[in-house]
Amino acid sequence: MPFSIRVAVLAFLAVSSASADTIVLKNGSRITAEQVTETADRVSYQTPAGELSLPKSIVERVERDDFAYTAAARAGSEPPVSAPQIEPVRGYEDIVRLTVHDNAIDFAFLARMEAEARAGGAIPIDKVAAAHHAAAQFLIGKGDTGDAINQYRQALIFAPDNVGLLLNLAVLYLHQSQFTTALDPLQHARRLTPDSAPAAPDVAKLMGWAYYGANKMELAIQEWRRAERLRPDPEVEQALQKAERDKSEEEGYREGETAHFSLKYNGTAAPELASGILRALEDDFRDIESQLDYTPPEQIGVILYTGQDFADITRAPSWVGALNDGRIRIPVQGLSGVTPELARVLKHELTHSFVGQKSHMRAPTWLQEGIAQWMEGRRSSAVSTALLDAAAQNQTPSLAALEGSWLALSGNSAAFAYAWSLAVVESIVQSGGITDVSRLLDRMATSTSPEAALRETLRCSYADLQQQTVDYLRRAYPR
Ligand SMILES: [Zn+2]
Repeated sequence: MPFSIRVAVLAFLAVSSASADTIVLKNGSRITAEQVTETADRVSYQTPAGELSLPKSIVERVERDDFAYTAAARAGSEPPVSAPQIEPVRGYEDIVRLTVHDNAIDFAFLARMEAEARAGGAIPIDKVAAAHHAAAQFLIGKGDTGDAINQYRQALIFAPDNVGLLLNLAVLYLHQSQFTTALDPLQHARRLTPDSAPAAPDVAKLMGWAYYGANKMELAIQEWRRAERLRPDPEVEQALQKAERDKSEEEGYREGETAHFSLKYNGTAAPELASGILRALEDDFRDIESQLDYTPPEQIGVILYTGQDFADITRAPSWVGALNDGRIRIPVQGLSGVTPELARVLKHELTHSFVGQKSHMRAPTWLQEGIAQWMEGRRSSAVSTALLDAAAQNQTPSLAALEGSWLALSGNSAAFAYAWSLAVVESIVQSGGITDVSRLLDRMATSTSPEAALRETLRCSYADLQQQTVDYLRRAYPR
């Protein structure tokens, strides 16, 4: 696609950041909010219902402005609801302080708590639950979800019926897209919480999330309705409406299923098209799985829209959200089989599912789009001259500015952002192979920021990577 690089750069620079901030909690939840203010011990923000505030002890960080690491979720699968804050036990602040101090977990203290709990008694069991919860929250703050999961599993050996522990464990599985696994602790929690119990609405909210993630729309709707009945919550209401829209849209759809995909399409699409798409996706799945060394834990939902004309819209930012919001949505009107263009779109969108899940939804947009284009087979040859011209005038956008949502970018600056992101990923692959991309994604899942992950894996900064990309373009595409 030809585009005017000069116009693109100017338009890019003119992008305003009409923005909201994001409060990232230690449990991984994110709250998008306006007018976030911080005091010594509280973080406050504005809502339509007035000012709300959170204790600083549960806040990991506040991300200022919309170019800060938030929108990758959009291209993967943003959680439909946020995770509630649940304390497994209350009143053990001393235990929290003794478990985590000097920026580390005191494993000797944890072992002592376990020994005391083994001797029996309700209070030692509460204490060991508080200690493992504190250790888990610390690990979540470090981005180490796997070890945090182990802390909760360990605590549950002593307190198997502690609903708070069960729900915190479920939230971690949900954040890892392990929806079926999350249902185990949730179903156990359900058996322990009658509708009158304070945690019952949270159990229903999280079960709805698990079913929604697992593409079980009917059950998701049932759970969110139950949550709304028990304790109305605007966020659940919104998720419920979306699930109901999805369900009514899909009613009367035919279904197809393979090992890794569940596909829905309405009756007017040719069954041969549907089976062709599933075959292409299975091939792509195996390819991306081996290249990125990652297997998504759940079936991926695919919906074909037979009422919308097919178009290659993988590089149109306004379509990004609609095309892969956890489920891959493809307009197919006018197609009777898998054309080369459709094949590219399928691979591009499927790559977003892998990248989103492997990085725990933390890959920045430039990396998401760079890898998706690379996987679909695009290369920079046609635009290398324009990119080098822009670089010569110091007009390439910084990667930091391309971390968040691109929805505010104009068409030309979006085209530039896509082209530059592809070139950056090409240069990474050229210098260290696709395994470098794979390692980078793994690190993104646990690191404090995308650039930190880059430093920790590829030993370079954003500035170094920009320069590496320019050098690569000069070498790979001599004028
Ligand atoms: Zn894309």
